[in-house]
Amino acid sequence: MKAIAVYPGQKDSVHLAELPTPSLEEIPVGRGVLVRLLRCGVDGTDKEINAGEYGAAPDGYDFLTIGHENFGRVEAVGPNVAEFAPGDYVVATVRRRGTSIYDQIGAYDMTTDEVYFERGVSRRHGYMTEFYVDDPEYIVKVPDGLRDIAVLAEPLSVSEKGVIQAFEIQRRLKVWQPRRAAVLGAGTIGLMAALILRLKGIEVTAFGRTPAPYLNSDLLDAIGARYVSTQDVSLRDAAALYGPFDLIYEATGFAPIVFEAMQALGKNGVLVLASVTGGNQTVEVPAAKINLEFVLGNKVMVGTVNGNREYFEAAIRDLSMAQAQFPGWAERLLTHPVQGLENFRQLIDTLTSGRDVIKAFCEIAPLDSPTGVAPGSGLLSPTSAD
Ligand code: BGC
Ligand code: ZN
Repeated sequence: MKAIAVYPGQKDSVHLAELPTPSLEEIPVGRGVLVRLLRCGVDGTDKEINAGEYGAAPDGYDFLTIGHENFGRVEAVGPNVAEFAPGDYVVATVRRRGTSIYDQIGAYDMTTDEVYFERGVSRRHGYMTEFYVDDPEYIVKVPDGLRDIAVLAEPLSVSEKGVIQAFEIQRRLKVWQPRRAAVLGAGTIGLMAALILRLKGIEVTAFGRTPAPYLNSDLLDAIGARYVSTQDVSLRDAAALYGPFDLIYEATGFAPIVFEAMQALGKNGVLVLASVTGGNQTVEVPAAKINLEFVLGNKVMVGTVNGNREYFEAAIRDLSMAQAQFPGWAERLLTHPVQGLENFRQLIDTLTSGRDVIKAFCEIAPLDSPTGVAPGSGLLSPTSAD
C-alpha cells in the first residue's frame, strides 16, 4: 500500500513509500482491528517533521510514515473484537503504551519514559497511508453523523486534555467557577480550546496577531468568543479590560508570551501551556514580580501534551455538541482538502505556505467507501482471522 513518509532528520524528505498492507494477525489474541484511512490531517508537528527537526523512524526502517490526525472506517476485525464491526467510523489515538506506571493505567499521554512512541511522529508509522491495524484499546468509535468533521477529533483531543487537566487541577479550590478565559493563539488548537470553553458557557477572549476581520476571527465570533488582535491591544491591557482570567490557554507556539500570560492570569487562576516550541529562544523577564504574583495569587501553570482515549471521547462528544449548537462551524475549519495520497507535495506545500489555512488534510478515500474489500481483510468474516 501507499504511504507518505519522511527520512527523519533530513530536511524536506517527504516522499511516497510502499508498505505491506497490515493484517489482523499482527495484533495478538484475535484483537486486531483493520481500518481503512479516509482522511488524514496535517499540522505544525508534521511541518517540523518534514523540516527534519522532529520525529523518529520505527526500528528497522529508515523512513517514518507521517500523519497522526486520522479518520477511518473499520474494514475487518479479529475474532475476539466485540467493540467494533466492519463499516464503523473510527479515530485512533496517537501515542502507544510505554513502560511507566502511567502507561500501565492507559494514561500513556502522561508517560515519564524518555523514549515515547507516537504513530506518525515517533518510532511508529502513522496514518498518511491506506490501512492500519491496531488494538481496540487505541480506537474510538465515531457516530456516522460526525463523519464530515471527525478528522478534527485528534487536534480537538489535544485541546480537550488541556482543559480537562485544568479543571482537574482546580478541584483544589473546591468551589472553582471559571467565568473568564483567555485563549492565546487563534490557530487550530486555539480555536478548538475556545470552542470547548464556549460550550461550557465560559466567556472567552481569544488573541491572535492578525487584525480582524479574517476567517479565524469570524469563527471565534460565531461561537460567541471575543477576538483581540495583539496589534491593537496587548495581552496585559486586555487582561485589565476583559479579565481577570480564571483560565488561560496558551497555543501560540511563541514561547516568550508564556511570561506575559503568567502576569495576565487572575488570582487562583490556571495557565495551560500547550505549544510545542522548538529552538532555544531566550528572553528577559521580571522574575521577582511574576513569582510574587504567582505566590500571592495561588496560581498554577501546567504543561499538556498528547491525549489518551478519554480525551478522544471528550472530543467526539464536543464535536457533536458543536454540531448541535453551532451547525456548520466545524466544517469551516476544514479549509484545505487535498485529494489522494499521491498529491502529498500539494498537501505539504499547503501546510507550509498556504494562505488562510486552518486545517489542511488529505482525502485518502471517499467517506462512503465500501468496506470489506481490502487485501487480506478476511472478506468481512470476523472468524476468518484465526
Ligand atoms: C500531536 C500529539 C503529540 C505531540 C508531540 C502533536 O502534534 O497532536 O499527539 O503528542 O504533537 O509529539
Ligand atoms: Zn498534532
